[in-house]
Amino acid sequence: MGSCGQSSDMLENKVLEMHGRIVELLNQEKPLSELVDCLCRDIEMIHKNAECRFKVIESPHKTHPGSIMPAALSKDRSASGTNDNIVDFFERKLEMSAKGVVFKSCWSHPVKNNRDEMLGIFAIYHDDQNPPNDAELQQLERYANLFQLIIEWTRLQNEHRISDVVFECQEGILVSDSNNCILKVNNAFCEITGYRPEDVKGRAPCMFHSGIQDQKLYNSMWASVNTTGKWEGEIWNRRKNGELYPEHVCITAVKNINGAIENYVATLTDITQSKADTEEIERLAYYDPLTGLPNRRLIQDRLKVAIASSGRSGKHCALMFLDMDNFKTLNDTLGHGMGDLLLQHVGKRLESCVRACDTVARLGGDEFVVMLEDLSCHGDEAANQAEAIGNKILDSLNRPYPLEKHEHHSTPSIGITLFPSGTNSVEDILKQADIAMYQAKTSGKNALRFFDPHMQAGIAARAALETELHLALKNNQFRLYYHPQVHSSGVIIGAEVLTRWEHPLRGIVPPSEFIPLAEETGLILGIGQWVLETACKQLNEWASSEKTKHLQLAVNVSTKQFHQRDFVAKIGRVLEQTGANPNLLKLELTESLVIDDIEDAILKMKALRKRGVRFSMDDFGTGYSSLSSLKRLPIDQLKIDQSFVRDIATDQDDAIIVKTIISMAKHMGMEVIAEGVETESQRGFLEKNNCLVCQGYLFGKPMPLNDFEDQLQKSLAVNSELRDTKNT
Ligand code: C2E
Ligand code: MG
Ligand code: MG
Repeated sequence: MGSCGQSSDMLENKVLEMHGRIVELLNQEKPLSELVDCLCRDIEMIHKNAECRFKVIESPHKTHPGSIMPAALSKDRSASGTNDNIVDFFERKLEMSAKGVVFKSCWSHPVKNNRDEMLGIFAIYHDDQNPPNDAELQQLERYANLFQLIIEWTRLQNEHRISDVVFECQEGILVSDSNNCILKVNNAFCEITGYRPEDVKGRAPCMFHSGIQDQKLYNSMWASVNTTGKWEGEIWNRRKNGELYPEHVCITAVKNINGAIENYVATLTDITQSKADTEEIERLAYYDPLTGLPNRRLIQDRLKVAIASSGRSGKHCALMFLDMDNFKTLNDTLGHGMGDLLLQHVGKRLESCVRACDTVARLGGDEFVVMLEDLSCHGDEAANQAEAIGNKILDSLNRPYPLEKHEHHSTPSIGITLFPSGTNSVEDILKQADIAMYQAKTSGKNALRFFDPHMQAGIAARAALETELHLALKNNQFRLYYHPQVHSSGVIIGAEVLTRWEHPLRGIVPPSEFIPLAEETGLILGIGQWVLETACKQLNEWASSEKTKHLQLAVNVSTKQFHQRDFVAKIGRVLEQTGANPNLLKLELTESLVIDDIEDAILKMKALRKRGVRFSMDDFGTGYSSLSSLKRLPIDQLKIDQSFVRDIATDQDDAIIVKTIISMAKHMGMEVIAEGVETESQRGFLEKNNCLVCQGYLFGKPMPLNDFEDQLQKSLAVNSELRDTKNT
């Protein structure tokens, strides 16, 4: 039988010894298996011919974990083992002991924790079939307690070891008691704060306060910890050396079994670096790297805010758009490095001209924007304030710039618009300031202009015209008008071709309304090419008839057209493709066009001259070409400008100029033609002074081809009649 034959004192002593040994082993932090083994052997020493076995249940069970009997034995169990305390009696005698003992019964007992969860089960096998008496049942209870102790103790030890490792992690950890007195901190905490554990133990965490956050934040922080058990956020604290730093903090309240807070655990991460990274990313996204000024994105954001706040307060704001004059030339001549340096100077000067509440931004290139806020509620007064600052900026940016060895002069053109006004969209305000800046540029640069709605109407009309011009070329809306050039004998020697735009709604549009824009936008290249091709085709058509084969055509050439690198080749190609006789093609150039780059003009004109193409100097007398440069150009004809012809009969000066041009042409071996001849007296004067070819309203206005050919027909008839009467 179990522990029979032993006096209760002896038994008590043995159990006490057993306790002592177990406690000693626990202190030595022996592993669980060793402790279990030792306890089983001790139990076996108390129960003669018995064997003790123990099974640990890794995760706590509420139910019985099943049998721990050896497989062979469990097969032959006669009693089911579902009760907590089980005594199994075996009908068959089984030899299962290592010592060769035949077991006949098994006392097993669950081991539970205080929450009634199963930690394990132990069993004592006996060589008899006696059930445990009351004392022995009590004894089993005490063994179970010892098993519970060793399991829970070793598990606790393990958990401590794990939490020691966890405690020394990368994050700073601070543990305080329920009064928020610091109990312990980890190494990471010491590294972040600069404090040693002994500096902080027993003190309150408010010792780290930076003074940046107000009390409200701490109140809500503790309210959250005490109600929800948690708070998380970013705060600025102070290190031991006084340095401020941002940290991410997570505070958790630790409650005891009764739900009362016993500790607070704060984990903290120093986010100085990640904050700096975020700030750097933000800086790159919102600031211009060259000048450090806000970029387009940021000024757009600020503009949005300013629009809203000015709408509320009624105070005006102004947006200035600045563009440096001739910046490209500086870049091209002194290099981009110098260009960058100038832009940096400009940025600094702009900042020094405005108040802290204003914004200076760089949009890109040499374009800057200045936003003035908090101006007067009265429009006029606000405009005056903005103008005063604008003038200050003009003065400042006009001062010479020290660019390394160079002292550079540069000027800005400034456009200003005030808001709130009719429009309150960011895009529109920027556009208005841009339009005003453009006006400042076109008015001669180094100037300040306010936006006014008329400007916008003009710009809008221009934009519409540009779109229409593109379409006009595509849809063949251009027409050639022929303006006869007439010899004093009455013979039409040819015509100047003048372009008209047959607009679907506006009718015939004169060139003064579209040629300048076409020139500016480059569309003139397409138009000019079409004019040349049409004129040359006409020459070719006329070549087949006796009556028209002598006719010449004068074609106006624009500056952009002439300056194309392949201008000569283009003319050559048109001549080839149309089969026109080059001698009958007269290109009208202006003085300013050739003077622009006289060497280039000479080369191109000579090359074309070689092919037989002829040149007429249009509007002659209005330019400033010198005689010496004129002499170098292969010019065939001077075309006296209509402004001299108009008053030829009444204005002595004009008469002298015209006479001079005629004699000059003669001396230089050039032909001469007068344009703008409207009266017979003008024609008479010119004829008398040896200018035999004229063009002007006297012979008709520029006209469509059919009309021109009719007129030609009539003049031929008149001339042949004249010849006939002379002959008779
Ligand atoms: P332009 O080449 O000097 O052409 C002469 C202009 O004077 C023409 O005006 C013509 O109609 C006008 N005119 C000629 N005789 C008289 C006259 O007796 N009295 C008056 N009041 N005016 C006279 P238009 O056709 O309006 O052309 C104006 C300018 O437009 C031309 O001046 C020329 O510079 C430009 N232009 C016209 N067609 C073309 C073209 O196809 N290409 C280029 N590049 N420019 C062209
Ligand atoms: Mg002309
Ligand atoms: Mg002219």
